[in-house]
Amino acid sequence: MTGQPYLAERLQGFGTTVFAEMSALAVATGSINLGQGFPDTPGPPEVLDVARAAIGTMADQYPPGPGTPELRAAVAAHVERFRGLTYDPDTEVLVTAGATEALSAAMLALVEPGDEVVVFEPVYDSYAAAVAMAGGVLRPVPLTPPPADTEDAVWTFDPADLRAAVGRRAKLLLLNTPHNPTGKVFGRAELDLVAEVVLGAGLLLVADEVYEHLVFDGARHVSPATLPGLRDRTLVVGSGGKTFSTTGWKVGWTCGPAPLVAAVRTAKQFLTYVNAGPFQPAVAAGLALPDAYFTGIARDLQRRRDVLVAGLRAAGLPTISPEATYFATVDVRGVQPDGDGLAFCRALPERAGVVAVPAGVFWTAGHAHLGRHLVRFAFCKRDEVLDEAVGRLSRMSA
Ligand SMILES: *Cc1c(COP(=O)(O)O)cnc(C)c1O
Repeated sequence: MTGQPYLAERLQGFGTTVFAEMSALAVATGSINLGQGFPDTPGPPEVLDVARAAIGTMADQYPPGPGTPELRAAVAAHVERFRGLTYDPDTEVLVTAGATEALSAAMLALVEPGDEVVVFEPVYDSYAAAVAMAGGVLRPVPLTPPPADTEDAVWTFDPADLRAAVGRRAKLLLLNTPHNPTGKVFGRAELDLVAEVVLGAGLLLVADEVYEHLVFDGARHVSPATLPGLRDRTLVVGSGGKTFSTTGWKVGWTCGPAPLVAAVRTAKQFLTYVNAGPFQPAVAAGLALPDAYFTGIARDLQRRRDVLVAGLRAAGLPTISPEATYFATVDVRGVQPDGDGLAFCRALPERAGVVAVPAGVFWTAGHAHLGRHLVRFAFCKRDEVLDEAVGRLSRMSA
């Protein structure tokens, strides 16, 4: 890793991501980009129309610091509808610049330098940087992939690893479920164990649930905040980006007990203060859509998952089919001589005209070897794009 001359020590190593390299490769080679996880179709008209109508009104000016009252009320109503948890929109809900800001503000607000943050690894790419900016230290708990091409196989962890990761300086556990990049949905028994560890060590819990509605095959997302004893020490983080196919709007939120939300609000007000004025009423409208919208997006995405997973397997690529999210994982050891996912991804545009990302980047510093043989493909794309990608993969050259 070459150091950047002006970059502060705590951010060394976070310089450039492989996403940028792979996206540039996609453009240079005319490849289909299944590397980045964003949808290529517009969100629901009921949501988009509200944003269009809001532009040119007072909604273009600074919204209230905690978010508009209507969006905070809509978040609280949504959480109550789908989880049965009640939050006071005035003191227990905070609107943020995407889930990303909620997570970073939570780390800056809650973590003292030297405090440890327990995460399941692989980790979403902003976590390590957010913890580093707060001066915290990551304590990863490895998730183990199931054998590829096995039905109903899921990523697992060893309870002993979770217990061992909680040391004297542990401050909080940062849990992403449904989980990116693995597509794992943490089950009730696993969450019971998380609860036992969190309560036993007196930790705080930050639960990133941005994929709460994108769950397949009747798997059920359980919000950790619903487990006995956890609501009072948990910040739930959500976002409209994935749910309404509006990842560029950056409307996120966090819900939790008032003192925790107040702490996050203090950090958040000096990061962005506010954002997304005209998009806040639009996401409020989206959160109030009938249940059929939310089950519909899951069903639709499940179909896309099935198309891509079948296509990858037909092309001879051993694939771990996800229970949720936008992503499927391929184990390249059988098809790449040295089992190197990065080398596989660098060659794939030339071989097949498709771009994916090496999953090793989702492991923390020093652990990249654990995910070295894995590659992540996104399926949140239009039918014709997926069909073309699958066709190209089937003609892949050696
Ligand atoms: C996309 C994503 C985010 C970021 O959400 P934004 O609302 O776009 O900031 C956070 N966590 C996970 C796991 C994600 O996949």
